[in-house]
Amino acid sequence: MYADLTRPEVNQRIDQDALVVIPIGSTEQHGEHLPVNCDAFIAGTYAQRAAALATERGVNVLVAPTIPFGFSTHHLAFGGTISLRSQTLYAVLCDIMESLISGGVKRILFVNAHGGNNPAIAMAVNDVKRNYPETVLAFCHAAAFGREAGKDIFPGTKGSCHACEFETSAYLAFNEAAVRKDCIKSELPEPRVAGEGLGGVNREGVTMPFTMDQRTQCGVIGDATKASREKGEALTAVITEGIAKTMEQVAHCPLHPSSARVRVK
Ligand SMILES: [Zn+2]
Repeated sequence: MYADLTRPEVNQRIDQDALVVIPIGSTEQHGEHLPVNCDAFIAGTYAQRAAALATERGVNVLVAPTIPFGFSTHHLAFGGTISLRSQTLYAVLCDIMESLISGGVKRILFVNAHGGNNPAIAMAVNDVKRNYPETVLAFCHAAAFGREAGKDIFPGTKGSCHACEFETSAYLAFNEAAVRKDCIKSELPEPRVAGEGLGGVNREGVTMPFTMDQRTQCGVIGDATKASREKGEALTAVITEGIAKTMEQVAHCPLHPSSARVRVK
């Protein structure tokens, strides 16, 4: 863990080309049954477990402290939510990356567990890469690694979205005691337009944002009543493996030290 090391210890690992992994989640309402730290807790847990696997495979990886806040303005009407504006989140991400790069870091991977963060992370990673072309920068959305396996683990599912069977099962696998099982509810909103999934319209060529209070009364989108610890263990094993493989790939991706701020002829 990055934060447990001293400055010389961090610098030694960075001089050995360590990959720095930054978990990012959110602090936002997750219905009545999951703690508001859900996404931050899940991001940090995935990052640590995947880093342990990658370390066993010889990858030099350091997990930085989890960023606990994200872009969650669509949840504010429910309370319980602490959100950054997208511009603030973008600035925070750029500052963190530029601090690390100033310290000699060449490889950074964000492990994101809140879909609302993806646009700001993409912008920040692209802009910092433009200014520091010698670096390898990447981000991944943890849930994406579980999409295919999730169809088998959750037979008949209508999809994953928020505090749903996927997310609740993951929390049960990581910290069952924190889930208020007697408060679990299900809510499956009707599509606003033809073809809209649980997570809204976000397919190639079309995006239609929504605020949570327009789509759900209890703050859940999905069928959390179908969640279980066993399903969560199956899902999180797949996702953890996907993140560990990504860490290996980012750690071994070739650097381009000669491309730093030079014009290609
Ligand atoms: Zn969540």
